[in-house]
Amino acid sequence: MAEIELRNVSKRWGSFVGVDRFDLTIADREFLVLLGPSGCGKTTTMRMIAGLEDASEGEIRIGGKVVNDLDPKDRDVAMVFQSYGLYPHLNVYENIRFPLKVRKIDEAVHEERVMRAARMVELEPFLHRKPAELSGGQRQRVALARAIVRQPNVFLMDEPLSNLDAKLRVSTRAQIKNLSHELQVTTVYVTHDQIEAMTLADRVVVMKQGVVQQVGTPTEIYDRPANVFVAGFIGSPGMNLLEGQVSGSSFTCDNVHIDGVEAPSGRVTLGFRAEDARLAQPGETGQITAPLYTIELLGDATMLTVRAGGGLVSVKAPKDVRAEIGDRVSFVVPPAICHLFDATTEARLD
Ligand code: ATP
Repeated sequence: MAEIELRNVSKRWGSFVGVDRFDLTIADREFLVLLGPSGCGKTTTMRMIAGLEDASEGEIRIGGKVVNDLDPKDRDVAMVFQSYGLYPHLNVYENIRFPLKVRKIDEAVHEERVMRAARMVELEPFLHRKPAELSGGQRQRVALARAIVRQPNVFLMDEPLSNLDAKLRVSTRAQIKNLSHELQVTTVYVTHDQIEAMTLADRVVVMKQGVVQQVGTPTEIYDRPANVFVAGFIGSPGMNLLEGQVSGSSFTCDNVHIDGVEAPSGRVTLGFRAEDARLAQPGETGQITAPLYTIELLGDATMLTVRAGGGLVSVKAPKDVRAEIGDRVSFVVPPAICHLFDATTEARLD
């Protein structure tokens, strides 16, 4: 069992709070992703679990045991960093074997364990190469194999894909997902890339300025963001967000008018996703009408963007749509697809 418990864990440097009362139980074998913009405290949270950083407050347990005072080497966690951390003078085989030597594991099992790890990340053809003779993706796989070979209770991964190019990132991401399914080890994975988070995670923790904003499955976070920040951060593009006024059951702000909105009268932030709205048919009037600001071909669809409510609003249209910048377009935004947030606290209203 390698459940990880964080009980009101904080990290302070002087008066600066890097992580503020992080409180969560990570289930045995769960794949948990810490997600948020640069500086939000993801890496610090992970370093506290690893023992590379002391918690200023709170308790950390791994497998039921309080580990606050344990050295990193005694926590049975294996880390994979974006910078790989390979030994340049050792070849791939020796790099993967290194943790077994350090931990004085019986030499008789080294070869079998190294080969099994190498096979899992498809490194068998490269065992005699030095890190300098490998591509970035291959180096990252050596780092993964070196973590796997230890058979730890917990994997901690800090942006392991961020040094890879876009294509390699997608294939290595798939490999990590497949590995985690096969190995069934509790994993905490740090990223600022919301697509990585959505594709890999059992649950995502969205953080901002040291504070947890929402914890949920990728679907929960996408479908019911807890606040304006999560709504805007998750999704590509993020949710369209409009600040306006509800009166009766109508929402209005400059060139936007949506009837049938269920919210108390007053100022609210209304959000909807680009794929939930549509372009009005010829002759049909939608809820947002404005000149087209930009049109982007996405391959399988076209993104149409107008200026509305003081910002930009995008709607996904079929790929064969014909429109030009400056054309007057109208978007149909059914009230049922709208998310409503308090204009002051920014918290979800329903
Ligand atoms: P990134 O994606 O850029 O790595 P992050 O979410 O992982 O960001 P952290 O590295 O956890 O962020 O840092 C959280 C905050 O704590 C940042 O504002 C950072 O500047 C600050 N911080 C980190 N280490 C220290 C330190 N040793 N002393 C003071 N402040 C620190």
